[in-house]
Amino acid sequence: MLYQHICISWCCFSFLQVIVADNYFTGSKDNLKKWIGHPRFELIRHDVTEPLLIEVDQIYHLACPASPIFYKYNPVKTIKTNVIGTLNMLGLAKRVGARILLTSTSEVYGDPLIHPQTESYWGNVNPIGVRSCYDEGKRVAETLMFDYHRQHGIEIRIARIFNTYGPRMNIDDGRVVSNFIAQAIRDDPLTVQAPGTQTRSFCYVSDMVDGLIRLMQGDNTGPINIGNPGEFTMIELAENVKELINPKVEIIMVENTPDDPRQRKPDITKAKDLLGWEPKVKLRDGLPLMEDDFRTRLGVPKNK
Ligand code: UDP
Ligand code: UDP
Repeated sequence: MLYQHICISWCCFSFLQVIVADNYFTGSKDNLKKWIGHPRFELIRHDVTEPLLIEVDQIYHLACPASPIFYKYNPVKTIKTNVIGTLNMLGLAKRVGARILLTSTSEVYGDPLIHPQTESYWGNVNPIGVRSCYDEGKRVAETLMFDYHRQHGIEIRIARIFNTYGPRMNIDDGRVVSNFIAQAIRDDPLTVQAPGTQTRSFCYVSDMVDGLIRLMQGDNTGPINIGNPGEFTMIELAENVKELINPKVEIIMVENTPDDPRQRKPDITKAKDLLGWEPKVKLRDGLPLMEDDFRTRLGVPKNK
């Protein structure tokens, strides 16, 4: 299965046949090259804001840039992807009778006033801020999913995914883990955005994929939080990257952007109880796996 947090794509399985639709706004064909030419794999250049007429049994609707720098670059396109894109995928699900899974986000909780976040929390979101195209967009996407479910009986699954990282992430994605790893490898200072005490919880990509497949195959509509409850401040993350990847690198404080959530950690009780899922890969084990991949792509061997 393809899962890339940052790419505009969706894919579906039908007895091991996979069709991936991607407009490559943030995704890359390179990540799929091992599958191109496989008899049960198909790749379509397609933008989900346009209608799509194909025959499928399951739809993994992952479309939308997830990195703040990418989604803020074209906010109108971002909200269209979340609203019109989700509507089109639901229209497709309705026409062919497919089950559809939406990757929603922990951003629906905004700058949360309860901690850790449970699925029953309604969130604290700015409707007119620079992040709203993404977080309000995903909130509307969740609403559309439930309205199609109630009105048309569509089989829906909603995952609220928390910060995810792993190999093959876009090196210039702008997310904190990819930034710090690329900076450490390049001997550039690690840029902690002020105040640095804000927290995130990072889930390794293979754990995330496992959670999404369990949700799709199970009987619960969700929303269900899928994320790693291990919580770190951005300063702690920088210190971990420094220690594991480049002890000589400098850590500097830089300016932050508006509406940055101050804390984020999933309550995964529902995922444990309903899906039998919990993450296996700890941050300190996942970071070196990502480092190896980034070193290969950047052409900087470990002991240069
Ligand atoms: N749609 C699509 N593929 C399909 C069926 C529908 O992309 O196989 C799109 C369609 O263009 C429409 C949206 O999904 O804009 C919602 O479809 P629905 O049938 O729910 O609504 P309607 O077309 O009646 O407004
Ligand atoms: N951040 C940072 N340095 C960077 C990029 C991001 O300190 O080079 C911080 C950012 O301010 C936020 C956290 O890392 O508090 C997570 O940011 P990211 O963009 O990875 O994901 P978000 O959770 O905001 O979607």
